[in-house]
Amino acid sequence: MRVSTLAAVLAVLILGALDLASAGALQPTGFHSSIRLLPADLRAEVRHEAWDPGCPVPLSGLRLLNVSYVGFDGQTHSGELVGAQSASGPLARVFHRLYELHFPIRHMSVADMYGPPRSRPSDEDVSGGFECRQAAPSPCVGGSGTGSWSEHAFGEAVDINPLENPYVGCGHSRDPASRPYFNRARHRPGMVTRAVVRAFESIGWGWGGNWGGNTQDYMHFSATGH
Ligand SMILES: [Zn+2]
Repeated sequence: MRVSTLAAVLAVLILGALDLASAGALQPTGFHSSIRLLPADLRAEVRHEAWDPGCPVPLSGLRLLNVSYVGFDGQTHSGELVGAQSASGPLARVFHRLYELHFPIRHMSVADMYGPPRSRPSDEDVSGGFECRQAAPSPCVGGSGTGSWSEHAFGEAVDINPLENPYVGCGHSRDPASRPYFNRARHRPGMVTRAVVRAFESIGWGWGGNWGGNTQDYMHFSATGH
């Protein structure tokens, strides 16, 4: 009798533990991601704001990536990013890792990136991917274009928290508000960490913060590292 009672107690304990384990397995972190063709309204916005027929990637080669992310409020948010079809799956894995790290992201939505300029966040601290444009010259030299495509034009680059991770050249950047973040030794929320760099490295992407010489693009990650 006592043995069977003990067995029953153990069974309840084990089943309880299994319940917890299976509940955890169903939703280990609360992270979600999905990848799909650009919906018609977004396709129209991207065409208007960030694409023309001379661009190196057709609109049909782009995907909308939805990922959970942690905001500066510490809460889970639903984020959106446009990138190349080939990059979307690997990027979903990167953002899963950033979510596990509780790495805070300020803004990451297609409205913030491609919506009417007047409705975009005034802090311009928008994380995003695809943008058909030339590579931006180093703030060392200034000007607006380099004559070669940015990796963003291929949908194979992502910028993360541009305010906290400025594009710096010779001690200058385009956004004066990012100046406090030239000092990379003192970490503040939203600044790219070694763990964030490793997350992108796990899919073979390089970081602009590793560029040598007088120019570093701390917000920038890309498939080629350029
Ligand atoms: Zn970039």
